[in-house]
Amino acid sequence: AEQTKTTASQIIMTLMKMGVMANINQNLDEDTVVLLAEEMGIQVAIGKVKEEVEEEGIESFEDKEEDLKPRAPIITVMGHVDHGKTSLLDAIRKTNVTAQESGGITQHIGASEVEINGQKIVFLDTPGHEAFTAMRARGAHATDIAVLVVAADDSVKPQTLESISHAKAAGVPMIVAINKIDKPGANPDVVKSDLANNGVLVEDWGGDVISVPVSAKTGEGIVNLLEMILLQSEVLELKANPNRLALGTVLEARLDKAKGPVASLLVLNGTLKAGMSIVAGTCSGKIRRMTNHKGETLRQAGPATAVEVLGLTEVPHAGDVFNAVKDDRLAREIAENRQLKLREEVLARNSSTTLEELFSQIQEGEVKELNLIIKGDVQGSVGAIVSSLEKLSNDKVRVKIVHTGVGTVNESDIMLAGTSGSIIIGFNVRPSTAVSAIAEREGIQIRTYRVIYDIIDDVENAMKGMLDPEF
Ligand code: GDP
Repeated sequence: AEQTKTTASQIIMTLMKMGVMANINQNLDEDTVVLLAEEMGIQVAIGKVKEEVEEEGIESFEDKEEDLKPRAPIITVMGHVDHGKTSLLDAIRKTNVTAQESGGITQHIGASEVEINGQKIVFLDTPGHEAFTAMRARGAHATDIAVLVVAADDSVKPQTLESISHAKAAGVPMIVAINKIDKPGANPDVVKSDLANNGVLVEDWGGDVISVPVSAKTGEGIVNLLEMILLQSEVLELKANPNRLALGTVLEARLDKAKGPVASLLVLNGTLKAGMSIVAGTCSGKIRRMTNHKGETLRQAGPATAVEVLGLTEVPHAGDVFNAVKDDRLAREIAENRQLKLREEVLARNSSTTLEELFSQIQEGEVKELNLIIKGDVQGSVGAIVSSLEKLSNDKVRVKIVHTGVGTVNESDIMLAGTSGSIIIGFNVRPSTAVSAIAEREGIQIRTYRVIYDIIDDVENAMKGMLDPEF
């Protein structure tokens, strides 16, 4: 209650409405906390449990309020293909006066820093919800705000909707950039109304989502967009503690013939210093050299700073979480233990949800929510499926539609299913062999149907534990 600025009685009341009788001294399990947060519109970040991290030997503590300093926001740009994500990022970098003044060639290190009104904003260089969700799937929560780019002459399209679902599932606030307003066919009002029809209410429509008309081509509105990002981040009160061992995420990594493994790191908390020992995923090493986006050597990098480092013994994965630790030996030990654990996990995989397993998971209290992604050939049938399925919710399990879309099941659906623990339902659509293979590898169930009634029947039966196992 303290952290969310509500009262204990409000929380207890909400829990009661959810059918959970709790008193003020009681501990809640993770699932209940997630449900509760959702019910109350609070964002929760579930990372590695503190004890688990401490067990590995990584410094872990709650930063004290007085140690926290404001930090720059970190932004990911998302949206439909060709709506101008790349152009917008270019236009934003060009607006950056300080970069122009210094005249230096900027190095690609996975993120760009922009300064406006003396304040810094960090943009991740890889646009798209795929990159965003792939990173989250590896445990990196490196986006504070998603900028949703929608072309004013094309309005809301399938990947716009995918982006919305991904941002919502992650609990990351959105700002809409209505792009291409220089074009003759541009109609921002259509964009706003289409967004409203898809659950995103911009301010003109009485909602709280900021929208900004821009042109990546002429540069119109870009400064305004940056100012709105600052405004939104002020609301988020982003803070970090510069005086602790650094932690963050790997943005990119590659093997350089001459330099060895090269990794771009985004520091999220703490300060990274040259010479420090770090663990990144299952890799470790000591930072030999650290450079910024101008190619300048840095001795240290504080929160919300992207740097390129040399010194890791292997190439980590993009999206891996990294931690600075007290010495090299500990870094190596942690990395080796993680490698062992990973091997065990790969062997033991096969634990994700299927409709067949749903009932036993409900019985064991493991599942309180059935997350579904619905893809169909036409909007009408998708809508019908959603409303019928939502009606199946009961006091034990709630049917939650994580994402819907018209078109075949694609890789983005699989990733979203992976991070949200969803089952995918396809109506009159079939995944390609490639997508089926990915789903199998990731342990995601895709069920395809030709009759709506069969879907409802299967889900209903699964909830009662009466699903025919021979599907
Ligand atoms: P992405 O696929 O979302 O990254 O889109 P791109 O940035 O590659 O842009 C797709 C196309 O739209 C390119 O031909 C751009 O030149 C064009 N484009 C992007 N933004 C604008 C804009 O504001 N106005 C106009 N007229 N064209 C734009």
